Amino acid sequence: MTARVELKPGQKHRVITGHPWVFQTEVSSVEGSFEPGDVVDVVDSKGRFIGRGYINPASQILTRLLTREDEDINEEFIIRRLEAAVLFRKQIYSDKWPPESSGIGTRLVFSEADFLPGLVVDDFGGYVVFQTLTLGMDRWKDAVIRGITDLLAPKGIYERNDAPVRSLEGLPEIAGFVGQPFDPLVEIDENGVRHLVDVAKGQKTGYFLDQQENRSAVRWLAKDKKVLDAFSYSGGFGLSLAKGGAGHVTAIDVSEAALDLFQASVKLNQLNTEFQLRAANAFDELRDYDRKGEFFDVVVLDPPAFARSRRTVPRALAGYKEINLRAIKVVRPGGFLITSSCSQHLLPAEFEGVIEDAARDAGRVLRLLERRGQARDHPVLVGVPETEYLKCRIYQVL
Ligand code: SAH
Repeated sequence: MTARVELKPGQKHRVITGHPWVFQTEVSSVEGSFEPGDVVDVVDSKGRFIGRGYINPASQILTRLLTREDEDINEEFIIRRLEAAVLFRKQIYSDKWPPESSGIGTRLVFSEADFLPGLVVDDFGGYVVFQTLTLGMDRWKDAVIRGITDLLAPKGIYERNDAPVRSLEGLPEIAGFVGQPFDPLVEIDENGVRHLVDVAKGQKTGYFLDQQENRSAVRWLAKDKKVLDAFSYSGGFGLSLAKGGAGHVTAIDVSEAALDLFQASVKLNQLNTEFQLRAANAFDELRDYDRKGEFFDVVVLDPPAFARSRRTVPRALAGYKEINLRAIKVVRPGGFLITSSCSQHLLPAEFEGVIEDAARDAGRVLRLLERRGQARDHPVLVGVPETEYLKCRIYQVL
C-alpha cells in the first residue's frame, strides 16, 4: 500500500492549485508505512487524491509531486519525462541538434520545470552531466542513466552530485564518471565562441548555461569597446563581447581555476581582443578603479547568489547595491552596465530598486534597455516562482 500524505484542513495549499511542493507544516498526518525517498500519495483533508510524489521527512519540503494522474511511478515513467524534456530542447535548437553534432551546450532537464523535481541534466556537445539533488530523485538514478543512454547515446556521462544542497536531503557528496572515463575538459560552441568546460572540477555542472542567450544579446554593444567582466568565471560574457569586437577585456574572478579555463578558451578562439585576467576580489578591484579614475565602456556584473534564503535578502540587497554602485561609477558616460542576480529569493522589482538606488548614490542617470532572464532551456513554470531565478538587466549609464 502506498502511504498517504494528508493535508491540513482550512488552509490554502499551493499544491492544490498547481505547485509541486508540500511542506512539513502543511501536513496533518502520514498514513501507512514508507521509507524516506518512497513514492507516496498526497490527498486533501477530505481524502481526495491530489497527486503522487516522493517523500523525505528529513527535508522541509516533505513531498515533491511527480504527477497529478493516478499512474505508476517506475523507470518507464522517469524515462518518458526525460524524453519530453529532451524533445523540448530539440525544438529550441532544431538546427543544432543533436548537441554532439554542433557542439552546443544545453540544459536538458531543469528540475521542477521539467516535472522531474531534483534532477538537473546538462549536455555539453554530447557529454552529459547530471545531478540528482533530492533523495526521492536519487532513488531513480539508474533510470536517469538508462534514459540518458538510450535517448542520447552520449559520448560520456559524468555525475556531479558533489552539490552542498544534497546535505539538506541527507545525501552524500559524490562525483565521478558513469561508465567509460573521458577527458573531463570538453569543448562547446556558444554562438560561434569556443568554450572549454571542465565537467569534473568546474563550478556547478561546469558551465553557466542559464546566461547563454544574454551573452549573445549584448554582443552588439561591444565593438571596439573597453570591457570589464566582473565575476567572469571561465569567460562567458568576456569571450562573447570579444567576439562582438571588444578591443579590450579585463576579467576579474576570485577563482584561479576559472581564469585558467578562461585563458585556455581565449587561445581556442581567434580574437582581435586584448585580455587581462585578474584573480582578485571584484569588490576591491572596482573600488580601486574608481579611486584611480579608470573607466570602462561596458561593465558586466554576474556575482554568485548573495541571498540563499528569504531571510538573508536584506543583507544580500546591501551586497548588490554595493557592487552595482561601484560598477556604475566606473562606467564612462554613455557606456553600458550588464548586471545580473541569480538569487531566486530576490524579486525582480527589488533588484531593479537596488540598481536605481545605486545610480542615485553615484549621481548617474540610467536608461533600462532590456529586461532579460534565464535561457529558454531553463523555462519558468508558471505558478512555481522557485523556477524563476535569473535576472539580467542591460542599462545605459549616462
Ligand atoms: N559570468 C560567469 C558566471 C559567474 S558565476 C559566466 O558567464 O559564466 C560567479 C563567479 O563569481 C564565480 O566564478 C566565482 O568564482 C566568482 N566570485 C565569487 N565571489 C567573488 C568575488 N568576491 N570577487 C570576484 N569573483 C567572485
